[in-house]
Formats: sequence, structure tokens, C-alpha cells
Amino acid sequence: MRLDKFLSNLNYGSRKEIKLMVKNGLVKVGNLTVKSSDVKIDPNYDKIFVNGTEVIYKENVILSFYKPAGYLSSHKAEIYPSLFELIGAPYNQYDLKIAGRLDYDSEGLVILTTSGDLVHQITHPKKKIRKVYEAKLDKHFNESSKLKLLQGVEIMGEDGMPYIGIALDLHYKEDVAYITIDEGKFHQVKKMFLEVGFLVTNLKRIQIGALTLDLEPGTYKEIEENDIFGR
Ligand code: URA
Repeated sequence: MRLDKFLSNLNYGSRKEIKLMVKNGLVKVGNLTVKSSDVKIDPNYDKIFVNGTEVIYKENVILSFYKPAGYLSSHKAEIYPSLFELIGAPYNQYDLKIAGRLDYDSEGLVILTTSGDLVHQITHPKKKIRKVYEAKLDKHFNESSKLKLLQGVEIMGEDGMPYIGIALDLHYKEDVAYITIDEGKFHQVKKMFLEVGFLVTNLKRIQIGALTLDLEPGTYKEIEENDIFGR
């Protein structure tokens, strides 16, 4: 594969920009500075460096990420910054998609991946992937509200159609509840608690499938599909 094609596929710039980087001596293959941007390389074998940093080449990348509150689960930064502003090299070179969004004021576990198929496997309601949330409530929770959420409550969908939101598991201590659901509708957890009279003052996703949150806010690490599906 041509070096300029390889690097432009990874969003290092247009072929013209890469030609300039090569001209400025910023690109190395192994420990040799490249002289021409159309040299042939083998991405599975050659070590490529841009500006002294190795280019990590993988078909697919999966990241476990701790989204802090105050970041948007989208590529576009609007009033708030996008979570992608926290993703550094080499992962910011990849076309990462979000497998299950969190509200801007929610925090916790988000899976970012290049694989559209994996996004589907994690987010499609039919796949029934369980997500666990820690919800801080405005007052102490109680048994009767727990029962209602386990039986299911009717909430309004984004499309104006009502649906039943069911907690598959729920335990709590004072004003903190741990709720498991296998869907991911817009504001679902907040709406479910509101339906039984509680305001969620802080929401943190702590588990998706078998994957648990073991990161500091704003940090991420590479994971495998098995970490999510527990195979
Ligand atoms: N449910 C919500 O209400 N908000 C989130 O961010 C995720 C699930």
C-alpha cells in the first residue's frame, strides 16, 4: 500500500498534506526518514512514525471510556464540548462511533468503536445488552417505588409514543439506586425515576454487558469484544 494512502485513510491529512509532511522529514518507516510519499509500505509489518509518534494501525478499535459530566455524546461540539475532545492520538485518527450515548450531564461508561456492527450489537433493543446505572436521587428511595420500577412504568418516548420502561434489577441504599435496564431510550433512567416521584440529580453508567467501569473520568483504554459479551 502507498504510504500517502495509508496515512490519509487514517486521517493524517490529504495526500498533498502528507507529501508536505514527508518533504519536511516528519515521516519515518522504521528508523529511516521517508523521502517520497508514494513509497510502498506494509501496514501489518512496517513501523511508521509521524512526528516521532508511532502510527497504530488496526482495522477495528474498541475503547472503554469514562465520559465525565459536561461533555456531549456527539461529534459536534455545541454549547458543550464533545467527548471526542478527550480522545488523543492515535485513537483520534480513527472514525469512532458511540455505542450508546449518555446525556451531557450524565457520566460513566461509554464504548467507542470503529465497528458499526458492534454498535448495533450493543445498542439494538433486540440484543438486550444490560446496562447498569448508579442514580443519585433527590431523596431516600423506597420499597414501593422499587416494586413499581421492577413491574414497569409507562413513559413517553422521544417520538411521542408511550412505552414501558422496566428495571430488570434494582437495589438501593438511602438516596442512591443501582438500576439495570436492557434498553437505552432517550433519558430513560431519569424518566423512569421521575415517573415514581424521584429526581435523578446525578447519573453514572457503571456497566455495559460484562464490561464494568474501572477508569478515572476522562480516561480510556482499549478493550476486546469479549470484555463486553463475556465470551
Ligand atoms: N438514561 C438517562 O436518563 N440518561 C442517560 O444519560 C442514560 C440513560
